[in-house]
Amino acid sequence: MKAIVDRDACISCGLCVSVCPEVFELDDEDISTVIQDPVEEENEDTAREAADGCPTDAIIIEE
Ligand code: SF4
Repeated sequence: MKAIVDRDACISCGLCVSVCPEVFELDDEDISTVIQDPVEEENEDTAREAADGCPTDAIIIEE
């Protein structure tokens, strides 16, 4: 599984980092960035949770 962040859509709320810090991190510009590619199996559920919870739907999950 692969996670992608649409940088233009991210509003730096930090939710994804709270929910799934193994996969998401805020970068120097406070934009979420993917730090695990591909997403390891053990983190897939929380990465999906982060995508579902993102207020701007900035996280795209590719299976
Ligand atoms: S949850 Fe969405 S808007 Fe919030 S930091 Fe993550 S990608 Fe950005």
